[in-house]
Amino acid sequence: MGRKFFVGGNWKCNGTTDQVDKIVKTLNEGQVPSPDVVEVVVSPPYVFLPVVKSQLRPEFQVAAQNCWVKKGGAFTGEVSAEMLVNLGVPWVILGHSERRALLGESNEFVGDKVAYALSQGLKVIACVGETLEQRESGSTMEVVAAQTKAIAEKINDWSNVVIAYEPVWAIGTGKVATPDQAQEVHASLRDWLKNNVSPEVADSTRIIYGGSVTGANCKELAAKPDVDGFLVGGASLKPEFIDIINSAT
Ligand code: PGA
Repeated sequence: MGRKFFVGGNWKCNGTTDQVDKIVKTLNEGQVPSPDVVEVVVSPPYVFLPVVKSQLRPEFQVAAQNCWVKKGGAFTGEVSAEMLVNLGVPWVILGHSERRALLGESNEFVGDKVAYALSQGLKVIACVGETLEQRESGSTMEVVAAQTKAIAEKINDWSNVVIAYEPVWAIGTGKVATPDQAQEVHASLRDWLKNNVSPEVADSTRIIYGGSVTGANCKELAAKPDVDGFLVGGASLKPEFIDIINSAT
C-alpha cells in the first residue's frame, strides 16, 4: 500500500495569460498538505507550460495534456515527448476521453503513446473510462479493461504511471460518479492489474478518479479505499482546487 494521494488539474483548452496568472497565484497562496502527503500536478495548455512551470511553487509539478506518439520530426502541429523532457516537464496526460472521442485516438494508439512517453522518461497519467451507453449496457469493466490492456501490452514498468478512471458521462457534466460507483470500478481495475500484470503493480499503482470532481464532493470520494486521488477539469481553474488538494487528509 502506501500509495501517495495524487491530485491533477487538467486545464484543457482554457486560459489567457491574465487568467493563468490568477490561477497560479491562487495555487501558490493555497494552504495544502506537504508533498509527502499529496502529489499535485497541474496541466495547462502547451503554450503556458513554461510560464506556469517557472512561476508555480516548487512542490507542485506540471503536465502536458498530450504528446506525439513517437520521436518528433515532420509532424506539423505536434509536440514530442523529447521536447517536454527538454523543457523539464515531468508529466503528460495521455488517452483523455476528449482526444479518444474527438480526435479518434484508439486504444492501441494510446498504448503506443504511453510506451513512448515512458521510454523518454516522462511520467504518465493514463486515462480510461466508459461512455453512458457502455455503462447502461453493462460493459463498463470490459471497456476500461480493454483500454488498460492496450497499455499493459506495451509497457513493463508501471512505476511512472497513474491511471485516471474518468467515466465519459461524468466529464464536464456536473454528474459525478457516486463514491460507490467510483470504488467499484477502481477495485475492479486494481483486480485486473493484479491478475494481468502483477500483485505488486496492482498494489502500488495509483488509480485516480475524474469527472465533475468539486470541492463539495471530493471528500466522500477520497474516503474510498481504492480512490487514490483525482484528475480535475473545470474545478481546477477555480480556488476550490485547493479544497480538492486538501481532501488528501
Ligand atoms: P471535469 O473534467 O472535472 O470538468 O468533469 C475532468 C477531466 O476531463 O479530466
